[in-house]
Amino acid sequence: MRIAYLGLGIMGRAMATNLVKAGHEVCVWNRTARQHLDGAKTAVSPADAVRECEVVWMCVADTAAVERVMFGADGVEQSLHEGMIVVDSSTISPSATVKFAERIATKGVQWVDAPVTGSKIGAENAQLIFIVGGTPEAVEFLQPLFKAMGKNVIHIGGTGKGQAAKICMNLQIAMIYEGFAEGMTLARKLGVDPQKMIELIQASMIRSGVVDYKVPFVMRHDYSPNFPLRLMHKDIHLLLDTAKEMRVKLPALETVDEIYELSSEEGWDDLDYAATIQLLEKWAGLGK
Ligand code: NAP
Repeated sequence: MRIAYLGLGIMGRAMATNLVKAGHEVCVWNRTARQHLDGAKTAVSPADAVRECEVVWMCVADTAAVERVMFGADGVEQSLHEGMIVVDSSTISPSATVKFAERIATKGVQWVDAPVTGSKIGAENAQLIFIVGGTPEAVEFLQPLFKAMGKNVIHIGGTGKGQAAKICMNLQIAMIYEGFAEGMTLARKLGVDPQKMIELIQASMIRSGVVDYKVPFVMRHDYSPNFPLRLMHKDIHLLLDTAKEMRVKLPALETVDEIYELSSEEGWDDLDYAATIQLLEKWAGLGK
């Protein structure tokens, strides 16, 4: 298939690489540096990338970035033609997704929201899980592409429902990790060996995929970004804004947001969100 891939960050670069490996004709565009991808053509703008393709796939930072790539100067909208499908693997606002989809529907183009879970390692190993909103026909058409980049596709419902499910999932990831971080910090202060604490967690019913993923990094104090703190913080704000729109209260998430605000003030935006544990350790007077 001919695919325009827009956004070559941590996730996008690995995803586009897997599309190339699967034999698809890929044309890439990235806003600033890191524009080249082996085996793919490079475009000078989103509009340029999209001109010849059947499917537009993007994975950029946030709602504003998707809006800019789609509808800004030299944006995707200028080159849309009937029958194309736009797929968005960024994590963005569910309500903005519906508005974007309505705007391109006037040109006979479908929007499929397909945010992902699996992080950097899942993207590199083509083991992502796609959380999808869109028509059954479009989702069916995209199966070979999902297969090239992931291991599972969960079709949640119509447009926007993929994003809705994704942010509600990230709410739980952020809170599970903070629960782990607080438990580990207090355990250390009580003189429990962290390795023994991990052994207990992994043998018991509190074991979780989130913690399994993060443990090797936390034990090495390696906070290089798999999922940057600034992006989880962005998702927490997306959740709090969406909850406000829907008149839902999320008191525990509001507290976790404060931890992220303070971590951001520490200058940790570009570290992994696992770095938030350092704040608890600092408050507890614990060194590495
Ligand atoms: P990243 O490494 O920070 O990459 C962000 C990408 O967005 C880059 O290509 C960046 O371009 C582009 N971008 C940012 N602002 C832009 C703008 N205004 N206009 C055009 N392009 C813009 O982030 P990532 O980890 O790949 O994450 C991408 C998306 O996937 C986010 O929505 C994130 O929440 C979601 N996600 C990430 C993970 C993860 O574990 N990393 C997991 C699931 C979902 P430049 O290179 O020019 O800055």
